[in-house]
Amino acid sequence: MSHHRTARRSEHGDYQVRREKMVQGLADAGIKDRRVLAAMRALPRHVFLAEPLWPKAHHDVTLPIGFKQTMTQPLTTALMLEALALRENEKVLEIGTGSGYQTALLASLCAAVFSVERIAELAREAQGRIRELSIRNASIKHFDGTYGWSEFAPYDGIVVSATAPSVPAPLLEQLATGGRIVIPMSRNGLEQICVVTKTRGSLETVALALCSFVPLLGRYAYAEGDSEAGGARSGKRS
Ligand code: SAH
Repeated sequence: MSHHRTARRSEHGDYQVRREKMVQGLADAGIKDRRVLAAMRALPRHVFLAEPLWPKAHHDVTLPIGFKQTMTQPLTTALMLEALALRENEKVLEIGTGSGYQTALLASLCAAVFSVERIAELAREAQGRIRELSIRNASIKHFDGTYGWSEFAPYDGIVVSATAPSVPAPLLEQLATGGRIVIPMSRNGLEQICVVTKTRGSLETVALALCSFVPLLGRYAYAEGDSEAGGARSGKRS
Protein backbone atom coordinates (compact mmCIF):
# COMPACT_ATOMS: atom_id res chain seq x y z
CA MET A 1 0.00 0.00 0.00
CA SER A 2 2.57 2.59 1.06
CA HIS A 3 4.87 1.37 -1.73
CA HIS A 4 2.10 1.91 -4.20
CA ARG A 5 1.50 5.45 -2.97
CA THR A 6 5.19 6.32 -3.07
CA ALA A 7 5.42 5.03 -6.62
CA ARG A 8 2.45 7.10 -7.65
CA ARG A 9 3.79 10.22 -6.04
CA SER A 10 7.18 9.88 -7.76
CA GLU A 11 5.48 9.22 -11.07
CA HIS A 12 3.59 12.49 -10.64
CA GLY A 13 6.86 14.25 -9.75
CA ASP A 14 8.54 12.77 -12.81
CA TYR A 15 5.93 14.31 -15.13
CA GLN A 16 6.31 17.63 -13.36
CA VAL A 17 10.06 17.55 -13.98
CA ARG A 18 9.43 16.73 -17.63
CA ARG A 19 7.06 19.67 -17.94
CA GLU A 20 9.63 22.00 -16.36
CA LYS A 21 12.14 20.88 -19.00
CA MET A 22 9.60 21.25 -21.78
CA VAL A 23 8.77 24.81 -20.66
CA GLN A 24 12.46 25.68 -20.37
CA GLY A 25 12.82 24.50 -23.97
CA LEU A 26 9.92 26.75 -25.04
CA ALA A 27 11.51 29.75 -23.31
CA ASP A 28 14.85 28.94 -24.99
CA ALA A 29 13.03 28.81 -28.34
CA GLY A 30 11.77 32.36 -27.82
CA ILE A 31 8.40 32.10 -26.04
CA LYS A 32 8.24 35.07 -23.66
CA ASP A 33 4.64 35.24 -22.45
CA ARG A 34 4.86 34.37 -18.75
CA ARG A 35 1.19 33.47 -18.44
CA VAL A 36 1.50 30.97 -21.30
CA LEU A 37 4.66 29.44 -19.85
CA ALA A 38 3.08 29.21 -16.38
CA ALA A 39 -0.06 27.58 -17.79
CA MET A 40 2.00 24.97 -19.63
CA ARG A 41 4.10 24.32 -16.53
CA ALA A 42 0.98 23.71 -14.43
CA LEU A 43 -1.24 21.63 -16.72
CA PRO A 44 -0.51 17.88 -17.05
CA ARG A 45 0.03 17.12 -20.74
CA HIS A 46 0.35 13.33 -20.78
CA VAL A 47 -3.24 12.79 -19.62
CA PHE A 48 -4.46 14.14 -22.97
CA LEU A 49 -2.86 11.16 -24.73
CA ALA A 50 -3.34 7.40 -24.71
CA GLU A 51 -1.17 5.83 -22.01
CA PRO A 52 1.35 4.13 -24.36
CA LEU A 53 2.31 7.64 -25.60
CA TRP A 54 2.93 9.10 -22.12
CA PRO A 55 6.74 8.67 -22.36
CA LYS A 56 6.72 10.90 -25.47
CA ALA A 57 4.25 13.47 -24.13
CA HIS A 58 6.88 16.15 -23.53
CA HIS A 59 8.89 15.83 -26.72
CA ASP A 60 8.48 18.70 -29.19
CA VAL A 61 6.66 16.55 -31.74
CA THR A 62 3.11 15.98 -32.91
CA LEU A 63 1.49 12.84 -31.48
CA PRO A 64 -1.42 10.73 -32.74
CA ILE A 65 -4.80 11.06 -30.99
CA GLY A 66 -6.74 8.71 -33.28
CA PHE A 67 -9.03 9.34 -36.29
CA LYS A 68 -5.95 10.44 -38.31
CA GLN A 69 -5.67 13.52 -36.10
CA THR A 70 -2.75 14.75 -33.99
CA MET A 71 -1.98 16.68 -30.84
CA THR A 72 -0.14 19.87 -31.77
CA GLN A 73 3.53 20.03 -30.78
CA PRO A 74 4.13 22.13 -27.65
CA LEU A 75 6.15 24.91 -29.32
CA THR A 76 3.39 25.50 -31.90
CA THR A 77 0.72 25.56 -29.18
CA ALA A 78 2.81 28.04 -27.17
CA LEU A 79 3.32 30.27 -30.23
CA MET A 80 -0.40 30.35 -30.98
CA LEU A 81 -1.36 31.08 -27.37
CA GLU A 82 1.24 33.84 -27.17
CA ALA A 83 -0.08 35.38 -30.40
CA LEU A 84 -3.64 35.34 -29.02
CA ALA A 85 -2.46 37.53 -26.10
CA LEU A 86 -5.55 36.75 -24.04
CA ARG A 87 -6.49 38.76 -20.98
CA GLU A 88 -8.12 37.20 -17.92
CA ASN A 89 -11.53 38.74 -18.62
CA GLU A 90 -11.72 37.72 -22.30
CA LYS A 91 -13.71 35.06 -24.16
CA VAL A 92 -12.19 32.75 -26.75
CA LEU A 93 -13.44 30.43 -29.49
CA GLU A 94 -11.33 27.39 -30.43
CA ILE A 95 -11.87 25.42 -33.64
CA GLY A 96 -10.47 21.86 -33.58
CA THR A 97 -10.57 20.71 -29.95
CA GLY A 98 -8.63 17.52 -30.71
CA SER A 99 -7.20 16.16 -27.47
CA GLY A 100 -8.48 19.13 -25.45
CA TYR A 101 -4.97 20.05 -24.25
CA GLN A 102 -5.05 23.53 -25.74
CA THR A 103 -8.66 23.95 -24.60
CA ALA A 104 -7.53 23.40 -21.01
CA LEU A 105 -4.66 25.89 -21.41
CA LEU A 106 -7.04 28.48 -22.86
CA ALA A 107 -9.34 27.96 -19.87
CA SER A 108 -6.56 29.02 -17.52
CA LEU A 109 -5.66 32.08 -19.64
CA CYS A 110 -9.08 33.73 -19.99
CA ALA A 111 -12.63 33.85 -18.64
CA ALA A 112 -14.43 31.42 -20.95
CA VAL A 113 -13.58 28.98 -23.74
CA PHE A 114 -15.95 27.68 -26.40
CA SER A 115 -14.43 24.87 -28.45
CA VAL A 116 -15.81 23.07 -31.51
CA GLU A 117 -14.64 19.67 -32.81
CA ARG A 118 -15.98 17.91 -35.93
CA ILE A 119 -15.17 14.35 -34.78
CA ALA A 120 -17.75 13.28 -32.19
CA GLU A 121 -15.53 10.79 -30.38
CA LEU A 122 -12.69 13.32 -29.97
CA ALA A 123 -15.13 15.94 -28.67
CA ARG A 124 -16.48 13.41 -26.16
CA GLU A 125 -13.03 12.33 -24.97
CA ALA A 126 -11.83 15.93 -24.61
CA GLN A 127 -14.98 16.78 -22.66
CA GLY A 128 -14.23 13.91 -20.27
CA ARG A 129 -10.68 15.12 -19.63
CA ILE A 130 -11.82 18.70 -19.03
CA ARG A 131 -14.36 17.43 -16.51
CA GLU A 132 -11.79 15.19 -14.82
CA LEU A 133 -9.47 18.19 -14.37
CA SER A 134 -12.39 20.16 -12.80
CA ILE A 135 -12.16 22.87 -15.46
CA ARG A 136 -15.49 24.69 -15.41
CA ASN A 137 -15.06 27.55 -17.88
CA ALA A 138 -14.66 25.47 -21.05
CA SER A 139 -17.51 24.17 -23.23
CA ILE A 140 -17.01 21.71 -26.07
CA LYS A 141 -19.42 21.13 -28.93
CA HIS A 142 -19.44 18.52 -31.71
CA PHE A 143 -20.06 20.42 -34.95
CA ASP A 144 -18.41 21.87 -38.06
CA GLY A 145 -16.36 24.66 -36.52
CA THR A 146 -16.13 26.66 -39.75
CA TYR A 147 -19.60 27.93 -38.76
CA GLY A 148 -18.11 29.21 -35.50
CA TRP A 149 -20.40 29.23 -32.43
CA SER A 150 -22.66 32.24 -32.92
CA GLU A 151 -24.58 31.82 -29.66
CA PHE A 152 -21.69 33.18 -27.55
CA ALA A 153 -20.21 35.66 -30.06
CA PRO A 154 -18.51 38.09 -30.22
CA TYR A 155 -15.16 36.58 -29.21
CA ASP A 156 -12.05 38.51 -28.21
CA GLY A 157 -9.89 35.77 -29.67
CA ILE A 158 -10.37 32.83 -32.06
CA VAL A 159 -7.81 30.07 -32.52
CA VAL A 160 -8.03 27.51 -35.31
CA SER A 161 -5.96 24.32 -34.96
CA ALA A 162 -6.22 23.06 -38.55
CA THR A 163 -5.05 24.59 -41.85
CA ALA A 164 -7.60 26.62 -43.81
CA PRO A 165 -7.55 28.02 -47.36
CA SER A 166 -8.71 31.39 -45.96
CA VAL A 167 -10.39 32.69 -42.80
CA PRO A 168 -13.92 31.21 -42.73
CA ALA A 169 -16.39 34.12 -43.06
CA PRO A 170 -18.46 33.19 -39.98
CA LEU A 171 -15.35 33.42 -37.80
CA LEU A 172 -14.64 36.97 -39.00
CA GLU A 173 -18.25 37.87 -38.22
CA GLN A 174 -18.05 36.41 -34.74
CA LEU A 175 -14.82 38.23 -33.85
CA ALA A 176 -15.07 41.38 -31.71
CA THR A 177 -13.59 44.62 -32.97
CA GLY A 178 -10.03 44.63 -31.63
CA GLY A 179 -10.06 40.82 -31.60
CA ARG A 180 -7.43 38.40 -32.95
CA ILE A 181 -7.76 35.22 -34.99
CA VAL A 182 -4.77 32.89 -34.96
CA ILE A 183 -5.10 30.47 -37.88
CA PRO A 184 -2.82 28.33 -40.03
CA MET A 185 -3.43 29.11 -43.70
CA SER A 186 -2.14 27.50 -46.86
CA ARG A 187 -1.28 29.86 -49.71
CA ASN A 188 0.78 28.99 -52.79
CA GLY A 189 1.75 25.70 -51.20
CA LEU A 190 3.12 27.49 -48.14
CA GLU A 191 1.53 26.76 -44.78
CA GLN A 192 1.85 29.55 -42.21
CA ILE A 193 0.33 30.45 -38.88
CA CYS A 194 -1.27 33.86 -39.40
CA VAL A 195 -2.58 36.44 -36.96
CA VAL A 196 -5.57 38.36 -38.26
CA THR A 197 -6.52 41.49 -36.32
CA LYS A 198 -9.92 43.11 -36.76
CA THR A 199 -10.08 46.85 -36.31
CA ARG A 200 -12.97 49.16 -37.14
CA GLY A 201 -13.56 48.47 -40.82
CA SER A 202 -10.32 46.73 -41.65
CA LEU A 203 -8.36 43.51 -41.29
CA GLU A 204 -4.64 43.16 -40.86
CA THR A 205 -2.91 39.81 -41.47
CA VAL A 206 0.59 39.00 -40.26
CA ALA A 207 2.34 35.68 -40.91
CA LEU A 208 3.97 34.32 -37.77
CA ALA A 209 5.70 31.04 -38.62
CA LEU A 210 5.75 28.13 -41.01
CA CYS A 211 3.71 25.18 -39.82
CA SER A 212 2.12 21.89 -40.76
CA PHE A 213 -1.37 21.10 -39.51
CA VAL A 214 -4.13 18.69 -40.49
CA PRO A 215 -6.67 20.30 -42.87
CA LEU A 216 -9.72 22.24 -41.65
CA LEU A 217 -12.61 20.31 -43.19
CA GLY A 218 -16.01 21.94 -43.42
CA ARG A 219 -18.53 24.18 -45.11
CA TYR A 220 -16.27 27.29 -45.13
CA ALA A 221 -12.91 25.49 -45.58
CA TYR A 222 -11.82 22.34 -47.44
CA ALA A 223 -14.26 19.68 -48.59
CA GLU A 224 -13.54 16.13 -47.45
CA GLY A 225 -11.37 14.40 -50.06
CA ASP A 226 -10.22 17.78 -51.46
CA SER A 227 -6.74 17.28 -52.93
CA GLU A 228 -5.84 20.86 -51.95
CA ALA A 229 -6.66 20.15 -48.33
CA GLY A 230 -3.82 20.73 -45.96
CA GLY A 231 -1.37 21.98 -48.58
CA ALA A 232 1.32 19.71 -47.22
CA ARG A 233 0.04 16.18 -47.64
CA SER A 234 3.26 14.73 -46.33
CA GLY A 235 5.53 15.41 -43.41
CA LYS A 236 4.97 16.33 -39.81
CA ARG A 237 1.64 17.74 -38.84
CA SER A 238 0.22 19.23 -35.70
N1 SAH B 1 -4.96 21.62 -30.53
C1 SAH B 1 -5.39 20.26 -30.80
C2 SAH B 1 -5.19 19.97 -32.27
C3 SAH B 1 -5.94 18.82 -32.80
S1 SAH B 1 -5.69 18.52 -34.53
C4 SAH B 1 -4.56 19.33 -29.94
O1 SAH B 1 -3.42 19.69 -29.62
O2 SAH B 1 -5.01 18.24 -29.59
C5 SAH B 1 -6.95 19.48 -35.27
C6 SAH B 1 -8.37 19.10 -34.95
O3 SAH B 1 -9.22 19.90 -35.79
C7 SAH B 1 -8.74 17.66 -35.24
O4 SAH B 1 -9.24 17.08 -34.07
C8 SAH B 1 -9.82 17.77 -36.33
O5 SAH B 1 -10.83 16.79 -36.22
C9 SAH B 1 -10.37 19.16 -36.07
N2 SAH B 1 -11.10 19.77 -37.18
C10 SAH B 1 -10.81 19.76 -38.51
N3 SAH B 1 -11.76 20.45 -39.19
C11 SAH B 1 -12.66 20.91 -38.27
C12 SAH B 1 -13.86 21.68 -38.34
N4 SAH B 1 -14.37 22.13 -39.49
N5 SAH B 1 -14.51 21.95 -37.18
C13 SAH B 1 -14.04 21.51 -35.99
N6 SAH B 1 -12.91 20.77 -35.87
C14 SAH B 1 -12.23 20.48 -36.99
